[in-house]
Amino acid sequence: MSCDYRALAAAGIQTLKPYEPGKPIDELKRELGVSDVIKLASNESPLGLSPRVQDAIHRALPDIARYPDGNGFRLKQALAERHGLDMNQLTLGCGSNELFELLAKAFLGPGDEAVMSQYAFAVYPLVVQAAGAKPVVVPSRDWGHDLDAMADALTERTRLVFIANPNNPTGTWLSKGELKAFMTAVPENVLVVLDEAYAEYVDQENYPNGFKLQRRYPNLIVTRTFSKAYGLAGLRVGYGVANAEITDILNRVRQPFNLNSLALVAAETALADTARLQESLAVNAAGYEQLTSAFKRLELETIPSVTNFVSVHLGARAGAIHQALLRAGVIVRPLASYDMPEYLRISIGLEAENQRFLTALEAELVS
Ligand SMILES: *Cc1c(COP(=O)(O)O)cnc(C)c1O
Repeated sequence: MSCDYRALAAAGIQTLKPYEPGKPIDELKRELGVSDVIKLASNESPLGLSPRVQDAIHRALPDIARYPDGNGFRLKQALAERHGLDMNQLTLGCGSNELFELLAKAFLGPGDEAVMSQYAFAVYPLVVQAAGAKPVVVPSRDWGHDLDAMADALTERTRLVFIANPNNPTGTWLSKGELKAFMTAVPENVLVVLDEAYAEYVDQENYPNGFKLQRRYPNLIVTRTFSKAYGLAGLRVGYGVANAEITDILNRVRQPFNLNSLALVAAETALADTARLQESLAVNAAGYEQLTSAFKRLELETIPSVTNFVSVHLGARAGAIHQALLRAGVIVRPLASYDMPEYLRISIGLEAENQRFLTALEAELVS
């Protein structure tokens, strides 16, 4: 090739390093030639497909020759009702990841800055860079967001701030008081994206409801997802809640049919199945206890987490332990790409899965 095609890409995209997802189960099966692999790497719900969602998808199948409802009316109506929102505040996305992308596309350009925390979700800098803008990464405090330092990092070029509450991959959370104080310090023309992908799991008295805060702060945009507690990661459904003007802007930049018809019907069904959600939360709480008490017994330090995953400190052996777990058919998430090379992140699974991971871990620790 005589042409340098990479040089043709937009400047921010030339230097962009793609997101590293957790290893898919089938990939490890192919590599190891084994059939019995478990994945505790991408914070998916371990309960799997619910019978109600499966039924709803079956019933919707005959219609897939038609385009989906491009406005997602029924799902938006159900979400509005559940959370006490107006439908004109809602934007649906192909995962909440798409919301981040739409926000970057709509509100960022070359010369603009977006503020985020160290050890926060890896997708934020990617969407910012892809839009030609500059990610400004603020050092973390105790593995969480240092909101005072983030407020200090705002400049006249700042257009967006990303906050994950709780945060991935550390599992830390911010209180209502902390977030309110931050919002008071942020000018109205700086948009704050509050990513609540794990909100359903949090059981803390002072954990803020982002939708309530949004009513008070018009520059706040809250995102949630069906990928975690609702167990629909493979179908890709997320949503954003913002004021009607911001929602109108997001609606201009999204693809007309960004959610497929099966995803829409599955999310609507999953939202209605509150018993399933409760089961998911109960399994998670028990699994957290199971894992963290074992880590304690093994004298391994963890970062306290309010989510469906926990990051554990394994020191210089983390990489070797990760490889040993893979050989034992257990996929967890190394955090070297998050600049946390001494940690592994474990998604909380079913009791037997957690046990299998712990057995493999202990075997490696004593070897
Ligand atoms: C998993 C996750 C999401 C959700 O992504 P989807 O695109 O909705 O699947 C968003 N933010 C964080 C911090 C996450 O860990």
